Parts: sequence; C-alpha cells; structure tokens
Amino acid sequence: MTSRLLLPLMSCLYLVGCVQTKHYKNTQHLEIYDEKTENVSENKLIENFNSCSNGKKQSPVNIVTSELKTNSMLPKIETNYQLSPLIIKNNQHTIKAKFDNINSITLGKVKYSLLQFHLHTPSEHKLDGKNSDLELHLVHQNDSGEYAVLAILMRSGKENLALKQFFENLPNEDHAIVNTNLKINLNDILPSNLSYYSYFGSLTTFPCDEKVNWIILKNVVEVSEEQIQKFKTIFPNNARDTHPLNDRVVETN
Ligand SMILES: [Zn+2]
Repeated sequence: MTSRLLLPLMSCLYLVGCVQTKHYKNTQHLEIYDEKTENVSENKLIENFNSCSNGKKQSPVNIVTSELKTNSMLPKIETNYQLSPLIIKNNQHTIKAKFDNINSITLGKVKYSLLQFHLHTPSEHKLDGKNSDLELHLVHQNDSGEYAVLAILMRSGKENLALKQFFENLPNEDHAIVNTNLKINLNDILPSNLSYYSYFGSLTTFPCDEKVNWIILKNVVEVSEEQIQKFKTIFPNNARDTHPLNDRVVETN
C-alpha cells in the first residue's frame, strides 16, 4: 500500500521543476512538451530529462541588476524583419506564431533565422526577483543549430497595437491553427531601444538543450490588461521556474 503510493509521488518530486505540465497545478499528471517536435507526450523515460534536471546552464534565471557585468563589446542587435504572414498555433504549451525563413537577426557576424515567437505568463525571467506580466520569446536559430532568443518583458498598460491581431486570434483549442490572412512586421513589436541583458542558457522546455544565447531587452513593452487576460484564459501559467546561474554572469551593453 505504502510503496504503491510512494512511487508515483517520488517520480513526481524528481521531475518537478523540469516537467512542463499542461495544467501546471497538477504536477502528477505527467505531460511533457517537446520544443523540437511540438508534441506533448506522457510517461517519457526519466533518462530523457538529463539536461532539464541535471544541467548547470539552465534557463530562465533571476537577473540581479547589481551583479551585472557591463561589456561594451557585446554586439548590437541588427534585425532583418519583413512583413510576414501571421499564422498562429496553439501547441498545448503556449500560443505561437510561426514564420518561414524570411526574418532574421544578426549578432556580430552571425545570422540567426527567426523560427517563431510565443508567449509566457508570468514572465520566465525575473528582474531583481520580480516577474513581469508576460514574456514574449522570438526564437532564432543559426546554421550550427544554436539559438538566439530575443525576450521582451511585457507589463500591463496601453493596448499593444502591433500585437492586436495576434491577441484577437488566439486559438484556444489544442493544436488549432488560425491563418489570419494578415501580415505582421516584427519590428513593430520591438521597443525603439534595443539595449539588453545577455547570458548563455537553455531552452525552457524539454529537451532543455543548453545552446541558447539569451537576449533580454531592457525596455519593457506595454500590453493591455485585456490582452493579458485573453492569453491567461488559455494558459494561466506556462512559465518555468528560475534556475541558478552557477558560474555564469549576466552581461549588459
Ligand atoms: Zn519561451
């Protein structure tokens, strides 16, 4: 009796902090979102969680502004974003907008192509221990398979007109796709000042690969409370907990 009760509980405790459950309050319901395949599956083997549970360069992190290292050599972000079709998908973990290979950023001399953007609530990264209402991740990848994720912290305020069509077309059913027949220019969702915090970390969903250049913009962008609630109605909490920096340093330009 006792062992039958203990085993599932121990499995659950072992995996807490790395498993992204669909309804985050129920940690015993083991649903795992795989960032690469976009599938949510159940009962994956524990060995598959090595990076998520044992990695030393995991994300997100709490950014402590008094411990930042200023680095004037950090590259400027050069964006090459075009007017792009807005196709929105509910992948059971978040709402994402997918893009073909027409958008990119350049960091130094390295080009990263935009794959998609998606949202988290509350923000995954904290600033001096505090969350923002939302965090938008623009996920880019270079030819070597490394990621550069441009993170925009968002707080309640004015309606965000650049994301108006996105928030008005959020698909609330699993795997649903909305082709808006509209176009979006991603430059419009960026703040004018692109100074940033930067550190090396991981994907925040399975398989938690440690190959992400995180670029968190310093300037917070506003979204209306109504826009925040539209997302929260579908995903009340899809943020991973923060992880220790260990020997990493967060730099700023
Ligand atoms: Zn994300």
